[in-house]
Amino acid sequence: MKIYYDNSANAELVCHRRAQYRLLFGIETKPSAEMQFGSAAHRVLECVCRGATDSYDDKNQPVPFGAPLPAEYIMQLPQLIDDATTRFTLNSLQLPKFRVLTRWLIEHDIAPAPIELVHGTPAVELKFTVPHGELVLCGTMDNISVENGKLVVTDYKFTTSKYPSDYMREYRLKTQLWFYMYVIKHFGSQFLPSKYIGMPLAARIRAVFYENGLDTRDTELCLCDDYVDTAMSSIMTLMVARLRAVMAYHNNNELAPKTGMATGSCYKCPFAYICQLHNDAEERKQIEQANKKQYNPLLFR
Ligand code: SF4
Repeated sequence: MKIYYDNSANAELVCHRRAQYRLLFGIETKPSAEMQFGSAAHRVLECVCRGATDSYDDKNQPVPFGAPLPAEYIMQLPQLIDDATTRFTLNSLQLPKFRVLTRWLIEHDIAPAPIELVHGTPAVELKFTVPHGELVLCGTMDNISVENGKLVVTDYKFTTSKYPSDYMREYRLKTQLWFYMYVIKHFGSQFLPSKYIGMPLAARIRAVFYENGLDTRDTELCLCDDYVDTAMSSIMTLMVARLRAVMAYHNNNELAPKTGMATGSCYKCPFAYICQLHNDAEERKQIEQANKKQYNPLLFR
């Protein structure tokens, strides 16, 4: 059995039903407006970090690689902005904010200069897929840079939250950053030049708050290697055990239990609308059965 463990798998750890919807039924969810905005902003950062040139005009292709020069970024700025409607997935409401954000990201040098990967490309939006026992670890690292003698993974979040400290608190216990450090520690030699192997690791969330005036906050996580290993191996063991349980229900043609209801993770669950339908159908069935037991005299003869 191969289980794909990616950044969003944490959500599946808390709800068996959610794991079944996403991993076994393979139901895709529509990205929210906020997620679309974040994807577009990631695209801008990719352009900035890779130094997209004036000849870049294919919106469907990855940003081509080129030597990044600050002067070029500034020259590209009007082009990136003017073409935004065709180049990025945005709706018209988001566009004015997006223009402001683009200008702000570039002027504030929000993206640290990425290192080069083994094949000479900058380490931005780095997609990785590495087999690891019965798991396949996959995901996208937004940016890898070297700062103060550490190899730092940066993950960008773009949010409309008006409460930066509450938002940042959410990330304290999230495993995404540990996960990246784990992948770099154990599989980094597949994509990093040898001079970076064995360097101290750090990871951070760089959150950009664009709703209530532009602001940015960082959270830096620097754990000793042993702790990353211990934390990640426990999480992965738990993940495998949970998914085995979900598979058992699935193979039995049953819906897995809604364990998310007990932990409050239904809030913002992208499958809530399907879950609600199943809920209604199940509840109706249960009520009908209960009614039959109580009121159908045939049952009690
Ligand atoms: S709405 Fe709640 S119970 Fe249903 S799948 Fe999502 S987290 Fe699980």
